[in-house]
Amino acid sequence: MRILVTGAAGFLGSHLARYLLKQGHSVIGIDNFITGSIDNIQDLFRKKDFEFIKYDVTNHLHIPGKLDAVLHFASPASPIDYLKFPIPTLKVGALGTHKALGLAKAKKAIFMIASTSEVYGDPLINPQHESYWGNVNPIGPRGVYDEAKRYAEAMTMAYHRYHKMQVRILRIFNTYGPNMRLKDGRAVPNFMMQALNGKPLTVYGDGAQTRSLCYVSDLIDGIYRLLVSRENNPVNLGNPHEISLLELAETIKRLTGSKSKIIFKPLPQDDPKMRRPDISRAKKLLKWHPKVSLEDGLKKTIAYFTARAGTAAKPARPKKFK
Ligand code: UDP
Repeated sequence: MRILVTGAAGFLGSHLARYLLKQGHSVIGIDNFITGSIDNIQDLFRKKDFEFIKYDVTNHLHIPGKLDAVLHFASPASPIDYLKFPIPTLKVGALGTHKALGLAKAKKAIFMIASTSEVYGDPLINPQHESYWGNVNPIGPRGVYDEAKRYAEAMTMAYHRYHKMQVRILRIFNTYGPNMRLKDGRAVPNFMMQALNGKPLTVYGDGAQTRSLCYVSDLIDGIYRLLVSRENNPVNLGNPHEISLLELAETIKRLTGSKSKIIFKPLPQDDPKMRRPDISRAKKLLKWHPKVSLEDGLKKTIAYFTARAGTAAKPARPKKFK
């Protein structure tokens, strides 16, 4: 297939582009580098099947030649980025999705939208099944992301129903791994950088809120299975292993061998109290389930952060980690 990936220089986009190339497909990557980084795709420029365009996908998209799939992964995805880039976040989910859908329609290509567990907001049920409509504050600080993704899902279903297009809607739960930015602001990179640098680990609230963390290779495997399936309805992808944020901070502290303290900071507004995917649909439809345990995934991620942060030479060097 010849596949367009928007947000190709981002955390997930870069893993996805690399995976698709490995499967023998041609990839055109697009990114405007608001939150993506050229470092994530540097090695791909040598590959003959990889093309890259620096572009803002909220503008009209023109791609010469055939396309078999358009995968819309461009978007800021960390809560601190929603505060920094509220309008680009809304625009890429709304206008960007519309442009990417229009392109997919013109090319008779499959369209995939990277949606999110944030469509469930601060959920009132746990775990979250695809049939749950969510509990979102539209005008809160996270609303710019949550509502843009909800609009993106609505627009995608409208194109499916009205234009009879093949669409894929994946609801991605918290995912972590190499290629996350060191200063991304999300819990895993924050705790890792703090632990590796001997700084206090900042747990927001009392740390009783939960998340379920999926290692990136598992997620990419699920995304590919969904792409080549015939499923047009939303599918949750994530790891159902749910832990509290305090437990996550303690685990990262232990795995890095860090002597850092754990301190508590105020909980950000509308921070979901719990989050765990119900993956029964993905299991049944895609024969998919996550395989990488939290400890194994965190160890691989710590190795990446250690190398990137250059902490290896510092006294805070993790003992248990090569
Ligand atoms: N969090 C934390 N300390 C940090 C960063 C995040 O305790 O330094 C908490 C945050 O309040 C939330 C959870 O970790 O409850 C996950 O936050 P993240 O930003 O990773 O993603 P979210 O799931 O909220 O989108």
